[in-house]
Amino acid sequence: MKPRRFAIVISSIAIFALALCAGAHTIARASSPALDAETREMARRMFKQLVEINTTESVGSTTKAAEAMAAWFRGAGFDDTDVQILSPDSRHGNLVVRIHGTGARPPILFISHLDVIEARREDWSTDPFQFIEKDGYFYGRGTADVKDGDAILITDFIRLKKEGYRPDRDLILALTADEEGGTDNGVVWLLKNHRELIDADFVVNPDAGNFELDNGKKSLVGIQASEKLYQDFELKVTNKGGHSSLPTPDNAIYQLADGLARLQQFQFPFELNDVTRAYFARMADLTGGDTGADMKAIIQVPADSAAIDRLAKTPYYNARMHTTCVPTRLAGGHANNALPGSATANINCRILPGHTSDEIRETLVKVVNDSEISITPVISNGAGSSANPPAKLRPDVIGAVEKVTAEMWPNVPVVPVMDSGASDSSITRSAGYASYGLAGVFIDINDDRSHGRDERIPVTSFYEGVDFYYRLIKAFSSK
Ligand SMILES: [Zn+2]
Repeated sequence: MKPRRFAIVISSIAIFALALCAGAHTIARASSPALDAETREMARRMFKQLVEINTTESVGSTTKAAEAMAAWFRGAGFDDTDVQILSPDSRHGNLVVRIHGTGARPPILFISHLDVIEARREDWSTDPFQFIEKDGYFYGRGTADVKDGDAILITDFIRLKKEGYRPDRDLILALTADEEGGTDNGVVWLLKNHRELIDADFVVNPDAGNFELDNGKKSLVGIQASEKLYQDFELKVTNKGGHSSLPTPDNAIYQLADGLARLQQFQFPFELNDVTRAYFARMADLTGGDTGADMKAIIQVPADSAAIDRLAKTPYYNARMHTTCVPTRLAGGHANNALPGSATANINCRILPGHTSDEIRETLVKVVNDSEISITPVISNGAGSSANPPAKLRPDVIGAVEKVTAEMWPNVPVVPVMDSGASDSSITRSAGYASYGLAGVFIDINDDRSHGRDERIPVTSFYEGVDFYYRLIKAFSSK
């Protein structure tokens, strides 16, 4: 999963960035040298190969992708013992690769999923499983989510190996299955079955975080350090039904609708954590004006309730201050001329870190306030389904991101963010690892095609991503 999430705040950030550019930093410019031709070619070939191996849940195989990528590593001189394909079955392979360091510091784990969401040929302008470069973009399923991240990390691991780079800590790469769905989530499975292989000081995941382009201009480097917990609940009313010519007062659809109406009136309490507090503090300055003032007012203790109400009118901000639960599907009845025997609704909750789905269910029971409406959690086993504490904003991690960002893209602000969506980082966080989402690839705020048709990313953003991660890995693993 990798939807962009910053559209609402971008224009003001862009204005701020422009103001900065016009000021003291006029002489600063991107010091990023072009990638050497060999690295570019390797990254492109690998990216193409990954996109053209179908890794959907329906007919694809992450094992095939893992095998193809393992061949690259072996060809680059990695020992077989440091390139392992580990699988619960023949179709959900995970690839784990290690570069050995001096051991002066504990390892870093990079995770990125190999699977992609389904794509139908008839929905697309081109074959989704053909890698196409056109008009400055790479097209194909997974180009944005997240085979770009896979290709970038593999390229950089190989590049570092070829250089003979000796990090001061082991570097581990885990390319995994079933982030987008299915029952064999690779991160869950590796933690359960091979934890010693991926145990690390902290985790970095290119499948989250926001590298934003606004009208072609880089406007934000968002480092995702927290995400909400995903939980669906089924609300259900059952009824004996009957002939629709003889209506009774206890109609299942009305009864469910009344419960949903009570839910609509309810708002979960306002709450910030370290990440969202840092986010609003940073955004207050970047945004300015009345909205900036409201952001300053909500990070005070106690928070200004009028400012909370004003900011909550913007769904993006609201989602960062409150747990949200919203109906997303509705079903009921079995015939046009029969009283409904049942009515059900799916309620999709996005729960703030620190709260459990049991606790949210109890709240829903109180709010819906009808013992005849059953409320049952819908079980899922993947990204977002684990309660996960926000990652600490560690100075060594944030500092390295700021350093590389300043080298490559001076004046682009680095801002910690909490996602309202979900990634595999929720799983590593719940397992106790501080985890950070860093896309590395700039995408236009109005052109996020993850999970959609004609998925694409800008060609230049991809190669810059290769360079960004190369520098970042070195910043993380050398003094
Ligand atoms: Zn993803």
